[in-house]
Formats: sequence, C-alpha cells, structure tokens
Amino acid sequence: MTIRLLPSTTVNRIAAGEVVERPASAIKELVENSIDAGARRIEVELRDGGRTYLSVSDDGHGMTPEELDLAVERHATSKLPEDDLENIVTLGFRGEALPSIASVSRFTMTSRTPDADNAWQIDINGGAKSPPAPASHPPGTTVEVRDIFFATPARLKFLKTPRTESGHVQDTIKRLAMAHPEIAFRLTDDGRQVINLPACPPLVDDESAARLERLGGIMSSDFAANALEIDAEREGIRLTGHAGLPTLNRGNAALQFLFVNGRPVRDKLLFGTVRGAYRDFLAHDRHPLLALFLDLPPETVDVNVHPAKTEVRFRDPGLVRGLIVSALKHALANAGHRASTTVANAALGAFRPQGAPFYAPPGGARTSYGLVESGRNFQAPLTHFDAQPSAAPGAEAAVLERDGVTEVEPPVDYPLGVARAQVHETYVVAQT
Ligand code: ADP
Ligand code: MG
Repeated sequence: MTIRLLPSTTVNRIAAGEVVERPASAIKELVENSIDAGARRIEVELRDGGRTYLSVSDDGHGMTPEELDLAVERHATSKLPEDDLENIVTLGFRGEALPSIASVSRFTMTSRTPDADNAWQIDINGGAKSPPAPASHPPGTTVEVRDIFFATPARLKFLKTPRTESGHVQDTIKRLAMAHPEIAFRLTDDGRQVINLPACPPLVDDESAARLERLGGIMSSDFAANALEIDAEREGIRLTGHAGLPTLNRGNAALQFLFVNGRPVRDKLLFGTVRGAYRDFLAHDRHPLLALFLDLPPETVDVNVHPAKTEVRFRDPGLVRGLIVSALKHALANAGHRASTTVANAALGAFRPQGAPFYAPPGGARTSYGLVESGRNFQAPLTHFDAQPSAAPGAEAAVLERDGVTEVEPPVDYPLGVARAQVHETYVVAQT
C-alpha cells in the first residue's frame, strides 16, 4: 500500500464535488465574489444553460496580476484577515471556489483594479494555469467558464436540460439580488435577457422601501402591494423584511426566503416557524409569501456548516424562532381585516354574471386604492341582481317540479349565491 498526498488538481476536483454541483452553484460562488468585491453592477451570461459557457462580470475592486495568480490557488482568500472563523462578514471565506471551478472547466479570469493602466488575464485549462497576461477590460472582474465538468464526465452526465439549469441559475441570482437591492443584476440566457434588475439605491431613512421595490421586482408586484413590513429586535438579533398577507398564498413554500447576515439560506426552521405564525390565518396546505432578513452578531451564527454555505447554525435557535413567530403574529394581528387585493378581486369576480361587464380598477388590481374603487363600481350591477336574481343575463334558471310544487333554482352561474352587499371592501354578503 502506498499513501501519498494527492496532486492539487485532484484535490480541487474533490472539493468541486461539493462546491460546484451544477452551473448554478458556480454562478452562486462567482456572484458572491462580485458582491464581496463591492460591485454595483453584476452581469451573468449563459449559453446552453451554462453547460458550454457561463460568465460573471462585475465593476468591483478588481485584482492586481499577483492577486489574480494567487486567487485561483486553493485556500487563498482575502476574506479572513484575522483568521477568525467566528467573525465572518463576507459571503466567501473558504478560498476554494475559484480553484474548484477552474479544476473542472476551461477557466479564464480577467481583472483590473481602478488605478491600473490595463487589465490582466489568466487561463486555467483542466487545472493547468497560465501566467497573467495583459488584457483589455474595464475596472472590475470577469470570470468565464467554458465546458464546465468536461474534466469530470460523471458530473456532466447529471446536468439536466438547458432550461432546467437556466432555471436554477435564475433562482440563484434572484436570491442573491433580494439581499442586495443596491446592486444592479442582469442575466442573459442564449442572448435573451431574462433578468434585468436596476439598482434600487437606499433612500434616506428608508432602506425598507428600496428592498420592497427589489422584492416586488422579483416575487411579483402583488407581493409589493400586499406585504406587511416586519421590524423587530430581541437580544441583539434584528429581524426585518416583508411578509405577505395571508390571503396572498400559494400551494407550496417556494416563495419563502430567509437571509442571515445578507446570506440566502435554506433553513427548515423557517418553514415550520412561518407555518406556526400563520396558523390562525391560513389553511394547513397553503403557504404565505415572505422574505425575512436576520441580522445578528457573526459570532452567534455558524456559517461554516457546509461547503456550499447555504445552511447556517444558530447558537440559540429557540431565540431566533421566537423572534420570527412573535414578529409575524404581531404584524398579522395589526393588519386586521386587510385582505390582499388579489383575493378581494377574485372574490368579487366570482359574483360576476357570465359575460356581464364589471369594473376595471384603475391601474389593474394592484393597489389597495384600486380595491376601494372597485367596491364602489360593484354597486351598479348589484341593484340589478336584487330585483330579479334568477333573470340575470347569460344564466338559465332551472325550473323543477317536485311534489306538485314548482321551484325555481338559482342559476348555476352563481356558485356563491347572489351578492347583496360588501363589507370592508373585502367581504361579500351573499344570499343563496
Ligand atoms: P473566497 O471567496 O472564499 O475568498 P474564492 O476562491 O471564491 O474564495 O476567491 C478567492 C479570492 O479571489 C477572494 O478572496 C478575492 O480576494 C479574489 N476574488 C475572487 N473573485 C473576485 C472578484 N470578482 N473581484 C475581486 N476579487 C475577487
Ligand atoms: Mg468566493
């Protein structure tokens, strides 16, 4: 038996097994690097879902040729100045993303610092590194990855269709973009622009508005119009963000996001906690939309749990859970009878006789003001129903003979009965 130290390319490929699962994970690492580099604009490009080509460009602080050369070495990082794993304030810290990605692909990195006369570029082809050469590039950095996993065919086989891979990339970028409204993001997929998020600079004294604008741009304008602001603090832990009204819900929890110190995390704790907080407001199989941001002292949370850094461990999970539940319950209780514009409009629509003209709220069904407007317009067709519910246009009343008595059944087009009045611009009183 011979024990030997593995060559660095093999070591990097082993690490890549954990860090680079698919194009989206490479993009996650590269975009995190751009965020850590202070970028204000990040552009991602994909071809064939990232299988043949992906790139990430930023306008961040860039690298000198010496730094460029070192950045692709294993365990090389600028982000742990005090070697202090208890105090991680950057998204990266492991110093293994670039060498891992480079070991399984044809990799090019071009970078320029703001005061340099020109950019520098290095290439790594299946692990073999070229010395930095002069290149042309504006201040900032571009990483290009061609033929990802060409060096690890087993992993290549697990790639799904370009569409699926592109979907994962979009999801990854959106999550990171939610936490950074001050940065503009763009994704081009086979020449088609699929994400274009302009920077939402924080307004004076109102970071929450910028964040909500970004969340609306990603989750839907419905969310922006139907979200409650969350802002709570307990024992040095701050919880901010936006939680959707219970009436704006979905059949799965895919639109529930948690960020811990700016890092998107997938945490089972969140789903259970949210379910508990919404219990009194939502059916068991429905899920609200929300994006919550926890900010806590770095030493009270361990982010060094998994190479992909998508999980964290809280020193006091009970405290975090309690804070989330009480903040959500408080916000929901204060919201009182507010229902989301979407559901209110849907409810009103259910009473509309088939083919009959109805209201068109100004600017679509977006704002709660549109709802007030719609409530008023609702009155007109109502009086018509009051007079003769069974003779509504487009509906045939069924006449039944039963035990010699003639009964007139309400038309089937009104499954919810006949609307009589509306309360709080939300509830409809119906007669069946
Ligand atoms: P980590 O992010 O954990 O430090 P990486 O392998 O991702 O490890 O990156 C190594 C180093 O390369 C970073 O610490 C950083 O100094 C430098 N670097 C990577 N990407 C960029 C970028 N887009 N702009 C500036 N510097 C970068
Ligand atoms: Mg990194």
